[in-house]
Amino acid sequence: MKKTLSFLLLLFSAAAFSQSTYIHCGKLIDTQNGKVLTKKTIVVSGNTISSVRDGYLNPTNSNDKVIDLKSKTVMPGWIDMHVHVEGDPGPTKYLESFTLNEADVAFNAQGIARRTLMAGFTTVRDLGGKGVNVSLRNAINRGTVVGPRIYTSEKSLATTGGHADPTNGRNKELMGDPGPKEGVVNSIEDARKAVRQRYKNGADWIKITATGGVLSMAKSGSNPQFFEEEIAAIVEVAKDYGMKVAAHAHGDEGMQRAIKAGVKTIEHGTEMSPETMELMKKHNAFYVPTISAGKYVAQQAAIPNFYPEIIVPKALAIGPKIQDTFGRAYKAGVPIAFGTDAGVFPHGENAKEFIFMTEAGMPVMKALQSATVTNAELLDMKDKLGVLTAGYLADIIATDEDPTQNINTVENVVFVMKDGVVYKE
Ligand SMILES: [Zn+2]
Repeated sequence: MKKTLSFLLLLFSAAAFSQSTYIHCGKLIDTQNGKVLTKKTIVVSGNTISSVRDGYLNPTNSNDKVIDLKSKTVMPGWIDMHVHVEGDPGPTKYLESFTLNEADVAFNAQGIARRTLMAGFTTVRDLGGKGVNVSLRNAINRGTVVGPRIYTSEKSLATTGGHADPTNGRNKELMGDPGPKEGVVNSIEDARKAVRQRYKNGADWIKITATGGVLSMAKSGSNPQFFEEEIAAIVEVAKDYGMKVAAHAHGDEGMQRAIKAGVKTIEHGTEMSPETMELMKKHNAFYVPTISAGKYVAQQAAIPNFYPEIIVPKALAIGPKIQDTFGRAYKAGVPIAFGTDAGVFPHGENAKEFIFMTEAGMPVMKALQSATVTNAELLDMKDKLGVLTAGYLADIIATDEDPTQNINTVENVVFVMKDGVVYKE
């Protein structure tokens, strides 16, 4: 009896496993070839796309399910290469490092992860927090928490007083002397230890702050903050552990040092000169523009007390420049990787970046490709993510309208599937 029962259970679970979903797509964006296709059926089995076929096919197996997206535009789930999953912006932000426990940060981050996924972002690269980002990634991978697939840099690396020094702006009693363990490096030795520590802590990428930044409690938003040899040491050690390096940079000098030292992505890139654009092309470094963050900080800086006093002039000077820099970099042929810096502005509004990119002269299809095929390649997932074709992971989203006809529809994602599981329908 017991044997029969377990045999039946086995049969049942095998049947459940072989269940397929047929998604009828009115339009389907072919990100590989930059084309909008019509009337297609995507067949999903488990977490994988098993085929994409012409017309609206109906299943032969009664277990199989049909999802009707005949009036929608279907595309691969988007990838945002620059988010901070541990928090949202707000006037109490600077106090929170004293008032919140890690558990508080983690509970908030759950909501952030859900919002991000529901906005159509099925994968994100997290570029710095305190370590909750690693736990969140693991919880999502286990299926305990709903959210995008996360690649995280854990804690950003900075030099003393640099953009990601965790004790900037504190009184001397609370300032301490953070070192490589806390992500602060001042030599080649420190650089090596800091990278190895990130590996030990569970990071997938390394993030450095190559220049000053807007939201740190420090005067300069753009000065160089690492020597080239320190960055080269970081890149070299990261390579040993299969990790690539992302560099926050507003100022041109810091950017050049980072590119020459071998970083893979430049974040923000605000004061990028034509010479630096050529350098990026030569080194095959990718520009992650984060126009959304620039616009948001410039707008919020006008609200009294939203930011501490030292931040305001930096936000007003740097924020408004990014969209223009992006337009020039795109025209110069710099490789572009879609990324927003969500967390500096509210999570869930990431898709606005598409609108800002197209305003600056990038065609909609190219912007969509940068958020799919380009980013998948940077994450070493080009055979699994960013394209809707057989053998790829079933990360599938849909918008009400065709974004190549009406770009504003990117803010209205009506369907989200990640790893073959429907989260929004
Ligand atoms: Zn950032």
